Formats: sequence, structure tokens, C-alpha cells
Amino acid sequence: MGYEDKVRRVIPYTPGEQPRGKVIKLNTNECPYPPSPKVAEAIRNLKISDLRKYPDPLCSALNSAIAEHYGVNEDQVFTGVGSDDVLSMIFLTFFNGQDPVLFPNITYSFYDVWASVYGIPFRTIPLKDDLTLDPAEYMNSKNSGIVLANPNAPTGIEEELSVIRDIIEANPDSMVVVDEAYIDFGGETAIPLLKDHENLIVVRTMSKSRALAGIRAGYALGGSRAIKFLNDVKYSVNSYTMNTVALAAAKAAIEDEAYFREITEKVIRTREEAKKELKRLQFTFGDSKTNFVFARHEGARPGESASDFAARVFEGLKERGIFVRYFNKPIVNEYLRITIGTDEEMKELFKALEELIG
Ligand code: PMP
Repeated sequence: MGYEDKVRRVIPYTPGEQPRGKVIKLNTNECPYPPSPKVAEAIRNLKISDLRKYPDPLCSALNSAIAEHYGVNEDQVFTGVGSDDVLSMIFLTFFNGQDPVLFPNITYSFYDVWASVYGIPFRTIPLKDDLTLDPAEYMNSKNSGIVLANPNAPTGIEEELSVIRDIIEANPDSMVVVDEAYIDFGGETAIPLLKDHENLIVVRTMSKSRALAGIRAGYALGGSRAIKFLNDVKYSVNSYTMNTVALAAAKAAIEDEAYFREITEKVIRTREEAKKELKRLQFTFGDSKTNFVFARHEGARPGESASDFAARVFEGLKERGIFVRYFNKPIVNEYLRITIGTDEEMKELFKALEELIG
């Protein structure tokens, strides 16, 4: 076609399936519990007639609630349509150099998609055999920026904060982005490092620990200068990313600390029980600090490899209405990523796994 040689062609990110109907959904790391009742109340209290107006482009009420929650200034907060939007804006704003942006070969598979769509050079750095980070590579390579999910996805493994700090300090001329999508399930946050490190941005989401994946709300905390740069780019693309309903819901969620603690503690408890069951079924896995477990099995049938097992069990679970995540790519194709559901859902999962293992 005439226009096609002018198209920006990309290989898009593939999100997990969103099946309809009554299924057990352990494939996209959503929270198995509903959002805080305060969220429902905040949405109910909205005046429909107010929807005729544009939302606040500064997201002031939400940003100030987030700032208060973490003890930072409001001008250190940036909010977006899920952390995907926040990360996308971060790639566009801070990764404008000639050298490659660095991130691990096994990590959130959207990072290379953003780099590609924005034409940002990038280099992936292999994780070590135990799926942990190789810090020296990040400390000694020329780069235009670094992105680390901590805990990492889909491995679930957390790096110590001292490792993250060393990487930030070795790269004063690059922005280091720490994606803490899963930090609330037992990890140690890098937020205290913001005080002394202008080249750090911490990214959070309301999709997991705040049970608001459907609202699309995420945020970044950084130095006020960095946040100003980020806002300049946002206002050059779309001033009104956050809608009126999302702003109200996200604010209510961040303010309800008691409910947040209750649901994250429940998920952590279920996860630790799930680890015991997986071990009993002879799965191996890293010490997940997230709301999922990335588990590998040597194979349960004669001649079955780990990747054969993962593919077969993924399909077998699906036939039984249980959705987990399977990535058909080298190395990770030996694993199943299982989101932690309710205790009842996990019971169903283990019943099905026992059948499939035989
Ligand atoms: N970062 C990581 C590491 C994730 O796993 C996800 C979830 N897919 C996101 C960011 C994006 O989450 P959301 O856009 O829902 O905030």
C-alpha cells in the first residue's frame, strides 16, 4: 500500500488474557480482593454533572494525598494511567541519549517495547543463573539510563536495597528507574534513597496492592526537577491523562491504609502457604516477594522437559478454567507464573496441579 512505508511499525506488548465468565484468574497479577470500600464511597459521591468538566490536569488532590502518604512534597509526585503510562512517559522524557538504556534480559516485557516504539537504543543484561541481577554490568557500562523492576517480574525476586543504591551511585549521569509494582508484598522500597539521589525515580502502581487494575492509576516519585521534566513531556502529549473517576478512586485507595494492610497481609499469607504446596509438588522457585510465584518443574512424565511440562500444564489448567501465565520465550518457557489468588482459588489450583502431575 502507498502509505505503508511511512508507518511506524512495532511489535506490541502482549497483555495476559482477560477471559470472560467464571474462571480462576491467576494470570495477570491482579488482587483477588475488591478495592477498599472507601473507593466505592468516593465514586458514589461523584456528581455525574461534574463529568462535563475536564479533570484537574495537575492531579493536585491525588498527588497531595500520595505525597502525604510517603512524606514527600507534592511536586515530587507524577501520576498516570497505570504505571504503564508513567513508565512510557519516563522512557520518552529521560532516555534521550546516544548510549543504550540498560535493563535485564528477563524482566517486564514492556520495557523493550517502549524503547523500540520511541527509537531508544537499549541493551539487555543477562540475569545470573539463579535469576538475580548482575550489578557489576550496570555499574561499569556506559548508558543513557537504567530500568530495574524490584522485585523483578516475572521472577518475583527482590534485590537488596544496597545493590540498588550502588547502581544509582555508580550512574550519577543517568536516570535510574526502579519499578516497584510489587514492592508492597514484602519488599524494601527505594523511596528513602530519593532524599540523596536526584537520578532516581521510583514507580508504583495501584493495580496490585490497591486492587485497582480496572481504574488505571500509577505514579512516580522523584526529585522535583525530574518530575517537572516529566510533566513537560506529559503536557506535550495529553494534559488530561487521569480522568475524574480515576482521580477520586485512587485518592480514596491511597488514604485507606488499614484496608491496604489487611489485603496485602492476606496475599502474603496465602503466598507463603502456596510456596509450601508448590514445594511438595516438586516445583522449584525463587523466594518471591510479590503477589505471584514463578515456578519451574523438572517434568512429571517420562522424557518430559521443564518447558514441555510448563506448556502442557498451562493448557491443562486452562481446560479446567484456571488461567496462569506462560511465556513462550527461551529460558522463561520453563516456568509458570502463578498469581496468588484467594485461599479457595489456590485450593482449586493445587487440586488441578495434582491431577496434571499424576
Ligand atoms: N511494572 C511491572 C513490573 C508490571 O508487572 C506491571 C503489570 N503488568 C506494570 C508495571 C504495569 O502495571 P499498571 O499499568 O497496571 O500499573
